Amino acid sequence: MVSNQRTILQIILAISACIAFGCICGAFAIAGLAVQSGTFAAMLATATPTATITPPRPQATITLRPVATRTPTPEPAPVNSPAPAITRTPIVIRSGRIVANPHFLVTRPVAPNAPTIHPALTYLYGTTARGDYDVHHGEEFVNPTGTPLYAVADGTIIVAGDDTTARMCGDDGRRACGRDINFYGNVVVIQLAQAFNNQRVFALYGHLNRIGVKVGDVVKQGDALGEIGMTGIAVGPHVHFEIRLGINDYAHTRNPILWMPPIPGRGAIVGRFSEKGVLVRGAIIALWRADPENFIYSIETYSRDDYPPVNSDDELQENFAFPDLAPGEYIVRVSGQQYAARVVVEPGKLTFIELGQ
Ligand SMILES: [Zn+2]
Repeated sequence: MVSNQRTILQIILAISACIAFGCICGAFAIAGLAVQSGTFAAMLATATPTATITPPRPQATITLRPVATRTPTPEPAPVNSPAPAITRTPIVIRSGRIVANPHFLVTRPVAPNAPTIHPALTYLYGTTARGDYDVHHGEEFVNPTGTPLYAVADGTIIVAGDDTTARMCGDDGRRACGRDINFYGNVVVIQLAQAFNNQRVFALYGHLNRIGVKVGDVVKQGDALGEIGMTGIAVGPHVHFEIRLGINDYAHTRNPILWMPPIPGRGAIVGRFSEKGVLVRGAIIALWRADPENFIYSIETYSRDDYPPVNSDDELQENFAFPDLAPGEYIVRVSGQQYAARVVVEPGKLTFIELGQ
């Protein structure tokens, strides 16, 4: 049974990686030039995405109006829905706030000139690719096998090895690094030299082709750690990257987007969708450019994972995040519901929004 589930997951991850590569390659073809990741991010924020992440465009022209008018407003189509959903209740418009002191303690695990330096949008932290995958405890940086990996911060290597049969994580070094053994293949974990609120911070890299460090090595930010591969439960080459807080195990992950600055010139939106104070799991959140309104893509709020859970930030208590957006004004909507917010994205900043009641 477990073996079958792993096999299914392998296939799913393979498809995921292929989809991600398809997106990237498609973007390259469209651009007709060697697109660097920053440019690709700009395309993400200004152009309609590829078919892999684009739901059908709503037919109706969407016009946001101030709350005072209480004008019924059509909603964008939820992903996987055959027709646009029209909500007759008024939209609630709220604006965001810049997060004053983001804990940007790490860089990206790949070099700035790597083919892809932004996380795969189809399988962001806490999401399930619309129910097809296990809840994701990290981010995927999809790049060819052999792409160098680098230390995201100063620290000490506490795990470096193959998890096929070994339990190398946890405080005693005897817990599985992933959901179980044989999950991340060749895996490396750095314990950051810098703690956060008196809690240890860990950065995990999974599926390496080659490991270039050993346990006990002291590394500086930017030091080489090894190469991207597809060991463990991954057929397509990528690095699975996690941030863990407090304890180095699968139950203590946090959203890496909140720990690394947006790529240069970009910003990010982090948000919380709740009802009666409880986070709503698996809701579809759609991102639009404002003025003129232009649908970009949609994501899920963090899904339920019975064990272990994916965690929100201790302070923000978020359940979704849009990484690496071009600066400007956006509209964030909960699909099928009246909640929406106008949000300004600024370079280098996280903008926090709260939706729901
Ligand atoms: Zn992953």
